[in-house]
Amino acid sequence: MKFSRQKTLRSHVSLTGVGVHSGAPVNLVLGPADVDAGFVFIRTDADGTEREVRALAASVSATAFATVLGDKAGAVVSTAEHVLAALRGMGVDNATIEVDGPEIPIMDGSAAAFVAAIDRAGIVEQSAPSRFIEVLKPIQVTLGESFGELRPYANGFRAEVEIDFANPLIGRQAYNFDLTPDAFRRDIARARTFGCMKDVAKLWKAGYARGASFDNSVVFDEDRLLNAEGLRYADECVRHKVLDLIGDLALSGLPLIGLYRSVRGGHKLNHAVLTALMADRHAWRVVEVEPVAARRRASVSDAVGGMLGGGMVAPAFAPDVS
Ligand SMILES: [Zn+2]
Repeated sequence: MKFSRQKTLRSHVSLTGVGVHSGAPVNLVLGPADVDAGFVFIRTDADGTEREVRALAASVSATAFATVLGDKAGAVVSTAEHVLAALRGMGVDNATIEVDGPEIPIMDGSAAAFVAAIDRAGIVEQSAPSRFIEVLKPIQVTLGESFGELRPYANGFRAEVEIDFANPLIGRQAYNFDLTPDAFRRDIARARTFGCMKDVAKLWKAGYARGASFDNSVVFDEDRLLNAEGLRYADECVRHKVLDLIGDLALSGLPLIGLYRSVRGGHKLNHAVLTALMADRHAWRVVEVEPVAARRRASVSDAVGGMLGGGMVAPAFAPDVS
């Protein structure tokens, strides 16, 4: 049995953008983190205060327009999902994400800028073996017209996503995706946030989405696409849903081995399915063996990495089963 090793960033890398809801400028720095740290958000504000929050399902404080992470003292960072998708999608296990404001910058509405930042930083292997959460039995959640399911899947992580919008320009779209860093970069990372003009107008009225523009959102009117440059993929909307769910499910704390099916889903559904999985201790276990497909892809680094200590390790967020 072969094991792969955890990965982190080689160096720190920074980027600057605006928060989609506040419209305010924000600086973000991605950096290396220790083995088993997972993804850690560090909020450093101009007044010198610093707050840390781990990217775990238990840290989620809101899912209405974006995924918000916080602690007992309140929200720490909003719109966490695209940078988390980039880190998970590119195969990073541990990283710090430092921001000097309440929102992760929206950049172009996709994960492309974060993938480019990860490329600039570089990825290095760490001493400890990779760990995964293996889904052992189906977990299903229905929320109104949305349906989500996680079920066992031997070959790594797969998403099967369907959306069905009343707007005829979006309509019904379906996308199946087997996660590898190459496929994430090619097929998912560039898919942008999207919305309908009437919903964006509602958000503006409610004081949200002040930073939203055609530079960071695909916006549809009733009968036309409002962005002059057009779509990046004909099915860009459903691909963005795949991007979002990879980010949202990164809040499991470890890469998943399983199949996630989402019908008319969003952040709220993703969080509900993940919470339901975590709550059922017979539905998952932490394993150190790589999935078959990943093992094939990673055969060279496996040969270098060799055999590492096995055994199962309970994650920090595991339910108390003693
Ligand atoms: Zn999104």
